[in-house]
Amino acid sequence: MGTVPTDPPLDCDLCPRLVAFREEMNAQHPDWFNAPVPSFTSTDPRLLIVGLAPGMRGANCTGRPFTGDYAGDLLYETMLDFGFATGHYDARPDDGLQLRDAMITNAVRCLPPQNKPTGAEIKACRPFLLSTLDDNPSIRAVLALGRIAHETFLSAMELRRASFAFGHGARHELGVRNLVMFDSYHCSRYNTNTGRLTTEMFRSVFSDIREFLPEA
Ligand code: SF4
Repeated sequence: MGTVPTDPPLDCDLCPRLVAFREEMNAQHPDWFNAPVPSFTSTDPRLLIVGLAPGMRGANCTGRPFTGDYAGDLLYETMLDFGFATGHYDARPDDGLQLRDAMITNAVRCLPPQNKPTGAEIKACRPFLLSTLDDNPSIRAVLALGRIAHETFLSAMELRRASFAFGHGARHELGVRNLVMFDSYHCSRYNTNTGRLTTEMFRSVFSDIREFLPEA
């Protein structure tokens, strides 16, 4: 492991706006997690799923990525179906669900107001993402959930966005770290309610990933 930890300290103060928002959340909801959310992983994951940032009532509340909000319902159900998780998802960090061959993280580990981190905040949190990759050389596939996660990951890899256009179902040979990136529309309630992302469309991306990473 490098000098930067894979998960930021719970009192990380690199982003003043997000620290202030965390404190505000803590005052309103002292029983919530309200801190940088650590990655959720199995040992030696080959798949890294990257979201943009914790959801307010999801990861920010429960402390586990995508746990507690609608996006997690669809994500974990699909991961269970495709063998990237085992057990039972019950929207609680103590539900016993375990990942298989997979890790889930967010490019920005703290809850941003309106789900919109600034460029400076994305940059400040980048060393933790890079350290996570350094520490997990088994990762071969990256699933970017949404265009901003896609762009953020490309920037972290110092790759040109213009060379890798975002598209639902797209697959990109990144040419760095032996990584292949898959894109999906974000599995948010908004996207599924509006029909932008159907369950079948989401499953289709996982089907491609499973083909790329056959079960051992
Ligand atoms: S977003 Fe990342 S860098 Fe910024 S305060 Fe939170 S953990 Fe630290």
